[in-house]
Amino acid sequence: MKEPKEINGIRIPDIPSLIDDMLVRGNEQYPARNVWASSVGHPCMRRLVYEQLAWRCKPNPDAGLLRIFALGRLHGKQIFRDLEDALEPNDVRVEQSEVRVPENEWGISGKVDAILGFPNPEGGRRINVPCEIKSAQAHMLSKLYSVDDLWNSDRVYHRQYAGQLLSYIHLLGAPFGIFYFREKATGKDRQLIMMPDEERWRIIRSRAAKVNLLAREIRTSTTQRNREAWSPEVDRLMPPRVPWSSMTCGQCPFLHICVPDMAVRDGVADYMGDEEANDCVKRLNELKPASAEHSKLNEKLKKFCSAACFDLQVGESRVLALPDYDVTVKVGERRQLDLPVHLKEKHTVKKRQYINKITDAGTGEDKGNVVEDS
Ligand code: SF4
Repeated sequence: MKEPKEINGIRIPDIPSLIDDMLVRGNEQYPARNVWASSVGHPCMRRLVYEQLAWRCKPNPDAGLLRIFALGRLHGKQIFRDLEDALEPNDVRVEQSEVRVPENEWGISGKVDAILGFPNPEGGRRINVPCEIKSAQAHMLSKLYSVDDLWNSDRVYHRQYAGQLLSYIHLLGAPFGIFYFREKATGKDRQLIMMPDEERWRIIRSRAAKVNLLAREIRTSTTQRNREAWSPEVDRLMPPRVPWSSMTCGQCPFLHICVPDMAVRDGVADYMGDEEANDCVKRLNELKPASAEHSKLNEKLKKFCSAACFDLQVGESRVLALPDYDVTVKVGERRQLDLPVHLKEKHTVKKRQYINKITDAGTGEDKGNVVEDS
């Protein structure tokens, strides 16, 4: 039944769509003149330059994504309160939140989620430590046990998290940094401690400086018109593209201007943000050899069992005593319809089937088919 739009002359607003409109209206893109610490760990320099030159081309997140962001912020506020309540009695203070990092020669900007003040063992001023608060999905949290898991993750955004906190540690001169992860659905959480890392910091700051320099050079040596059209003149000055991967280019907001023919493909549903589906296919592939072997062995075992028990009646059983296992075989009966062909056809109905062909997005390698009944 359709929901009424008016009752007794009272107009009833469609609240969900009003909220969608409000979220979309309130979301604006801003020009960037620096590299954000939250992106500096991204493997593609070209994307970092686009962030500064093509910010107008960045697609606005849709209302669905903006709702997720809004929930994330709400979640963040709760975490913040929890941190304050739990840390204060233990003499650790939440000194500030959303703190801008100081201006620096490499042009790295950022806002630290929270600064925690620890008592100084030598007395005097408290020691300030950056703390980054992140929401995580259960299947992701179960993979993160150390900062190395972030640096070595196949998820680009995990490496971005790592680059972000490392930048804050060095820009603030902190002795360490803290990641606090919390799973949204269950509230399960984990903290990871990050130490300064001079070698990685050297790479990060020199990337940021290069990106800023290049963006400035392109801005001054090309016309606005050429930049907006992404003319070959501008393209030549851009850093090279990274090799295609679903995790980098596939999730890049600038794909439509960087590799336009990849972005618009008929018959393609965009599931780039769906890690759960991605993990499902990954695990399916990992288990495929084991599943085939399992079926084969099961068939083999059935042969042993039927050979050992061919003389038993229905309902009787026998144990196959093996060196390491006892296999109890009970003879049962399976009922099966044995209809004449004309009746079988009459009672056959068509049902939808989904035949999924899996291909590696990076290499194009065929990973086989999976057939699913609806
Ligand atoms: S589409 Fe790929 S190569 Fe192009 S900017 Fe994005 S990540 Fe880099």
